[in-house]
Amino acid sequence: MTAMPTLALVNIGTLVSGDLATPTLAADAIRVRDGRIDAIGSRAGVGADAAEVIVDCRGTTVIPGLIDSHCHVVLGDYTPRQKQVDFLDSYVHGGITSVVSAGEGVHAPGRPHDPVAAKALAIAAAKCYAGFHPNGMKVNAGSVILEPGLTDADFAEMARHGVRHAKYGFGGYQQPRDGEPEVRMAQKHGLCVMSHSGGTSIPGSSPIDHDTLLHLRPDVAGHVNGGTTALADDGVRRLVRESAMALQLVQAGNLRSSLLILKIARDAGALARVCIASDTPTGTGVMPMGVIKTVCELASLGDLPPAEAIALATGNNARAFRLETGVIALGRPADLVVCDAPVGSAASDALGAAARGDIPGISCIIIDGQVRVARSRNTPLAQRLAAITGTAIASGGT
Ligand SMILES: [Zn+2]
Repeated sequence: MTAMPTLALVNIGTLVSGDLATPTLAADAIRVRDGRIDAIGSRAGVGADAAEVIVDCRGTTVIPGLIDSHCHVVLGDYTPRQKQVDFLDSYVHGGITSVVSAGEGVHAPGRPHDPVAAKALAIAAAKCYAGFHPNGMKVNAGSVILEPGLTDADFAEMARHGVRHAKYGFGGYQQPRDGEPEVRMAQKHGLCVMSHSGGTSIPGSSPIDHDTLLHLRPDVAGHVNGGTTALADDGVRRLVRESAMALQLVQAGNLRSSLLILKIARDAGALARVCIASDTPTGTGVMPMGVIKTVCELASLGDLPPAEAIALATGNNARAFRLETGVIALGRPADLVVCDAPVGSAASDALGAAARGDIPGISCIIIDGQVRVARSRNTPLAQRLAAITGTAIASGGT
C-alpha cells in the first residue's frame, strides 16, 4: 500500500469550524496527513508548501463536509423509491460527504416486518456500506427498523456486527407508544435511536406526536418539522423544554415549522440540539443540494448567522449521531468543502451568499484527505474557483 499524499489548503479566506460554540477559526491554511487534519494555522506555520497536493482556495471559504443525517439508502448507490442510480455520487457534488441511513428497511422493496429480517437487513447494510464509498462518501448505514419481537440478544448481535443506529416509527406496532421497550433495548446496546415524528410520510407509518416522543425518549426526533407533516406548534415547544433529544430539521419537511423550531430552540439556548438533514430520496425527490439549501434557508429566513447554520449541518449532526467527522479540528478526518458566492450573486463570499439565500458554488470537495470533486456539477458556478495542483481528480464510485 502506498502512503497517502500529504495535502494542504492555502489562502483560505474564511474557515468555518462546524463547532457551534466557535463557528469560525482564525487561520488561512490546513495541512492534512494520512487523511486527517494535522495542522491549522498560517501557510508557513503549517508547512503547507511541502505538501504534495495543494488546494489554493484563493480567498474563498472552507467548511466541513456536510452531513445528511436522514438519507434513505437501501443498498448500493440506488434508491428504489425514486428508481435512480448514482444519487449518492451526486450528493457528494452537493457538498455532502457523509450520510446517516434513516433505516434501510423503510424503502426496501417488500418491506419485511419480522424481527429476523429487520436484524438481517441492518447487519447486511452496515457491512456492505463499510466497504462501499460512492465518490468517497461515508455512508453510515445499518439502521435497524425497530420491530416487535426484537430481543436483547438481537441488539447485542447487531451491535457486535456494526449496527450503530436504529429507526422507530415504521415497525409493526399496534400503537406508536408500544415500541418503548425496543427503544430502551437499542439504547442499552449503544445504538443511537431516531424516531419518526409528525404525520405519516409513507403508507404504513403512524403519526407520532410530541406526547409519544416524550414517552419514547429517542436520541433524535427525526424530521421534527414533519416528514412531511409537522407536529403541532405547542408540541414542539414541549419537546424543546421537556426533553434533551436532538431535533432534526429536514429539507423535505415543513419550512414554516423549521423556522419556528429554530426560533424556539434559539430562545431556549438549545441550538446545539438542532441538526439538519435532507430526508431524501423520498416523494420529494433526489436532492443533492438538500442540506446546503436548508442551511441557506435557515440563514436567510431564520436570521441565523451562516457559520452557525453550517454547524447545524456538520458538528451538531456529528454529535447527535456519534460520527467522527463534522468539525475542522486537529486529528479529525479531513472532510472539507471549498466554496464561494455563486456567479451573479450580490454577495462576495459564501457566507454572504447563504445569508441572502443564494446557494454557494462549490469548487473542491475533499474526503479523508483525498480530492474527490473539483468544480461541483450540481451547485451554481463559484465566483472564484479553487486551484488544485499535485493530483488528478479521482472520480467515479469506488
Ligand atoms: Zn425519512
